[in-house]
Amino acid sequence: MNRFPHFVDVAVPLPIFQTFTYEVPDSIQLVRPGARLLVPLGKRSIAAIALRLHREPPAQKFRQVEKVLDSESVISEPLLELAQWISSYYFSPLGEAIRIMLPPGLLQKKNADRAPAWPVKQRWMILEVLNGGGGLTARQAHVMDVLSAEKLPVELTEFVRKTDCSAAVVKKLAHEGRIVLQKVSVYRSPWGDAAPRLEKHILNDEQQKIFETLKHRLQRGGFYSVLLHGVTGSGKTEIYLNAIAFARSLGKSALMMVPEIGLTPQVARQFRSWFGEEVAILHSALSDGERFDEWRRIREGEAQVVVGTRSAVFAPLAKLGIIIVDEEHDSSYKQEEMPRYHGRDTALKRASIEGALVLLGSATPQLETFFQAVESRRFDYMPLPFRILERPLPTVHIVDMRVEFERKGKAAVLCDLLKENIADRLTRREQVLVLMNRRGYSSVLLCRSCGNTEACANCSINLTYHQESSRLSCHYCGYARSVPQRCRSCGKEYIYFLGEGTEQIQKILMSAFPNAITDRLDRDSVQRRGSYDRILGSFSSGKTDILIGTQMIAKGHDFPRVTLVGVLAAEQMLRLADFRAAEKTFQLVTQVAGRAGRGEQPGEVIIQTHFPNHYSLRYACAQDYRRFYDQEVRYRRDFRYPPFTALANLLVHSTHREKAAQLASRIGDVLKQKIQEHSHERRMRLLGPSPAAIERIKREFRFQMLIKTTSRRELHEVLDQTFRVLQQEGTSLKNILVDVDPITVL
Ligand code: ADP
Ligand code: ZN
Repeated sequence: MNRFPHFVDVAVPLPIFQTFTYEVPDSIQLVRPGARLLVPLGKRSIAAIALRLHREPPAQKFRQVEKVLDSESVISEPLLELAQWISSYYFSPLGEAIRIMLPPGLLQKKNADRAPAWPVKQRWMILEVLNGGGGLTARQAHVMDVLSAEKLPVELTEFVRKTDCSAAVVKKLAHEGRIVLQKVSVYRSPWGDAAPRLEKHILNDEQQKIFETLKHRLQRGGFYSVLLHGVTGSGKTEIYLNAIAFARSLGKSALMMVPEIGLTPQVARQFRSWFGEEVAILHSALSDGERFDEWRRIREGEAQVVVGTRSAVFAPLAKLGIIIVDEEHDSSYKQEEMPRYHGRDTALKRASIEGALVLLGSATPQLETFFQAVESRRFDYMPLPFRILERPLPTVHIVDMRVEFERKGKAAVLCDLLKENIADRLTRREQVLVLMNRRGYSSVLLCRSCGNTEACANCSINLTYHQESSRLSCHYCGYARSVPQRCRSCGKEYIYFLGEGTEQIQKILMSAFPNAITDRLDRDSVQRRGSYDRILGSFSSGKTDILIGTQMIAKGHDFPRVTLVGVLAAEQMLRLADFRAAEKTFQLVTQVAGRAGRGEQPGEVIIQTHFPNHYSLRYACAQDYRRFYDQEVRYRRDFRYPPFTALANLLVHSTHREKAAQLASRIGDVLKQKIQEHSHERRMRLLGPSPAAIERIKREFRFQMLIKTTSRRELHEVLDQTFRVLQQEGTSLKNILVDVDPITVL
């Protein structure tokens, strides 16, 4: 009996940090690392992933593997290594990191006792007609006749639909061995009828120069990373497409990542027309079946170009040549649930594991990325400072709404300059975008008599009034209720609506310009499947004159007929107590301004604000990234924020305030002690515990601790040791969230 090896380490998809070891019984022939196994855990069975096979019996009592679920691995070696990195870098259980890499259902928490099947979709196909000979009923003979004229194979339901034959008769014929009818697996396609639209340009000199370097690097192979810093409309997408085509010509696969709502039908069509059937798309709006089939097409090597959002970074591509992260600064790359990984940083890690090229593209790079490219030289830096065809960047005006108020003696939502310009564009049949980064009708309901505001029952947040649904709703937990006629606190009727949102702005624009066609793009208006495409479609075809929206309108779109962009309440985000407030404001305003003047007519931007002198607005107005960066980086250095430190945010949450407070204070004590043991106050600082800026969300009270450190290694040791102590004390980890490199600390 010298079977080798005898034991297997597995990861389970549960919030548990440790891995488990099982014995492989003699009845099991083969276990591959990366394959799913059914193993007993406590009183139940659970699907787990095999990690490592070995001959070292574990110290504790061990049990046996029940069943092998896959004869081949479902997760490749490099992806397993990536999962290990995510687990340790983001302080997240390995099983959870593996689970999110797989399509939904393959490794699940619920019903794990049932071996998850591969959710392949199958259809009955008539493959062949064998022999008609003798003894046919009239109806059978008829079907044989029709079939002999048919082009085979044909799908059964399709055949029945277009002829007068019945499925029962066809099945009977198959049963009698006269025809071949078989279940064949098919792919569900998320493409719909996206018609290819070919649009290739000859690269200009600047684009060509960058492309040559990328070609050279792709040919040479190996890990290489570069920041492509190109102003809006400088032709970055054209470089991406050419680089991918070149990687394909070398037989390598390619991955392009886009922000959550950056994957427009326009982008999908562009990829389809360049790469045809080789393209797979992966995004959150796919059904589970579609997602599984795209994943399978990639795994089988049928799709070698993947376009997708954050989780596409785990696409099972082999021979990976290039990863492009478009709009690398976009916050949708950060996953806000466990494991809280960042798509861009994970892409960089994956490329370094697989020896691929990473191209980060943005007009407004995240400050840390620019720092790493220009100051610490971790990335190569490639600027594209001009727009295509020497089109000018838009002219930007800042309107001080305090002056506007003084001049008019009353508050106006739209300033005169913006109104005049909208009227002018409408007569010229050009298009207008209006950004208002707050949805709903109004954001506060205030009683003028007693000062009460309508707050959510579950969160420490004011409810937003939505006129369309005539309800008050919470943007954090979804809680909704009807609009009160009288103040719920004092009973009087002096309820007052404050703070305009997109719904109200649309109404104001409709009454100011009754002949214009307006539309709205925000999270509410895209609720229904397909409405996002419809709204963008009407706008890009010119049906809509004015499109009002939240930050959703700022992203990546290329609408050549937009010549005016209005930005309302531009300072809104600056009020947030977040160290990225200025950066986010600069990015949003620069990006939305960049939607103007991309076609033949030059663009104009009008920014309304009460803080006209804030540097983020002034530099966005000048479209001057470098000067914004220079000022912002000083603030980050002075206050010890990234890139000068690494941050980790620990959030404790519980429905009982006391419990959350006690747990936070206990964790705080352990952290302080571990920092003393493993680091030094000069290298690591703990802020808090203190109530989070938003103290309560979804009925849970929140306390936070922020760690700032110059040593990631020490951060890891401290967290590791802290969690060890907590686990020994029997503290459940399910009330604690760790966020490494948080995008926001609210
Ligand atoms: P970015 O991604 O940098 O914002 P795009 O790649 O969308 O810019 O390019 C802006 C516009 O210029 C698009 O309409 C694109 O089709 C066009 N374009 C890109 N490269 C060229 C080129 N070399 N010649 C002519 N037009 C181009
Ligand atoms: Zn709420």
